[in-house]
Amino acid sequence: MNNGGLPRARIRVAICGGGISGLCLAVALSKASNVEVNVYESAQRFSEIGAGVMIWSRTWRILEQMGLADAFSRIAHAPPDGSMGIGFDYRRSDGPEGFDFYRVQMPYGCIRFHRAQFLDVLIDRLPTGVAHFGKRLRSYSQSNNGPIGLRFSDGSMVECDVLLGCDGIKSVIRAQMLRDRAKENNDGSLLDLIDPVWSGTIAYRGLIPAERLNEEHRALGAPMMYCGQDKHVVSYSISQGSVVNVVTFSSNPNEEGRPYGGPWVVDCEREELLESYSGWEPEVTELLQCIDNPTKWAIHQLKPLPFFVSGRVALIGDSAHAMVPHQGAGAGQAIEDAYIIACLISRASEATVDLALQAYELVRLPVANHVLEGSAESGKMYEFNSQHGDDYRILGRAIERQWDWILWPSPNEDLACALDWVSQQLMLRREGGYA
Ligand SMILES: Cc1cc2nc3c(=O)[nH]c(=O)nc-3n(C[C@H](O)[C@H](O)[C@H](O)COP(=O)(O)OP(=O)(O)OC[C@H]3O[C@@H](n4cnc5c(N)ncnc54)[C@H](O)[C@@H]3O)c2cc1C
Repeated sequence: MNNGGLPRARIRVAICGGGISGLCLAVALSKASNVEVNVYESAQRFSEIGAGVMIWSRTWRILEQMGLADAFSRIAHAPPDGSMGIGFDYRRSDGPEGFDFYRVQMPYGCIRFHRAQFLDVLIDRLPTGVAHFGKRLRSYSQSNNGPIGLRFSDGSMVECDVLLGCDGIKSVIRAQMLRDRAKENNDGSLLDLIDPVWSGTIAYRGLIPAERLNEEHRALGAPMMYCGQDKHVVSYSISQGSVVNVVTFSSNPNEEGRPYGGPWVVDCEREELLESYSGWEPEVTELLQCIDNPTKWAIHQLKPLPFFVSGRVALIGDSAHAMVPHQGAGAGQAIEDAYIIACLISRASEATVDLALQAYELVRLPVANHVLEGSAESGKMYEFNSQHGDDYRILGRAIERQWDWILWPSPNEDLACALDWVSQQLMLRREGGYA
């Protein structure tokens, strides 16, 4: 990719989508002197839904590396102090009298935010001129050596050297990447991976002002996982404890993988929510009664993809590995993607950026796909539908083990592996042995 035979000064990176993954990536890449970064967002502004988001120690360490720990500490509920903390308290709640059955603890505990505040920290750090709104990507064209052409639904077109797909669970970039590869490889099975599949689970979400709850209510203290047959309810406080985030899940295991008819997100009546959890312990009913405007979500996920990268196009965040939310990990995994690929691209040149993308896939795909599959398994455990049923002694430990990836080699160790791999490939290229 030469500019009239001369190397171009900076790698032109286009980020498509300005959610948590796109903005985190844009903030990280905007510090790289070898990169010109642009974010193309289909909406007229960046926005997040009114709800909570939790992250774990692995993600917190990335935010520290990015120099964002102070800013995120200011808006975190329970900012981490390095000690062990409560992940969740697990309770059986689908009867008139609930009881605790397990506490999962982990380094730093559960670090919680209001989503809009989380996004604002990133938006505030985006240099002027980087964001372009009302730009819905329709398709891209990539040839071996030339620039990548982006075509938007308003008819406009731009060129870039690298395209990073942060366009979420319904990603058009994933769809095109899989379609192109299916054609190239004559492998129709890849087409089955384009569309997200319904998990068989419906979620209801809402926020409650903390003062509306009885001051003894457990949800004001620890993050709670209220478990029942085929259903569970998650609650944790955010915004310095002034708001309680509630998400309830209701599953029909026979519907898993079936198409979901209807819109994925709709407003709903509180009565529908209360009816769905009738007979649950009063502590849960009290929570649900305080939700004024619940929304109802059909929870979808991707089947694990066999690749995240094709040439100089890469998938990041939900476009690569949208998962069910039972480990509160989708955004954390998106941030991990963004950090690693930004570090790799910032050390690359036009001639080596393809290797940076391959190295990203090498280290991120196995971890992200593990978390994707583990999140689905966690949901089954919370709803007593795993092989452990409601054998609490085994179940609690099994739930805890499912979080093991949090303690796996850190993102920085993964990055070191990826950089080693790039060095080896460069050596092979220099020796003429690299295909
Ligand atoms: C109920 C629920 C609870 C969750 N809780 C947690 C949690 O506690 N912790 C956690 O880590 N994760 C959680 N998640 C998952 C997390 O929300 C997602 O993984 C994360 O928000 C994905 O971010 P993203 O930037 O990849 O995608 P998105 O947030 O979907 O952003 C995609 C962006 O791309 C834009 N876009 C889409 N198409 C185009 C296009 N063609 N052209 C241009 N722009 C486009 C969209 O407008 C949007 O701004 C939860 C998910 C759900 C459903």
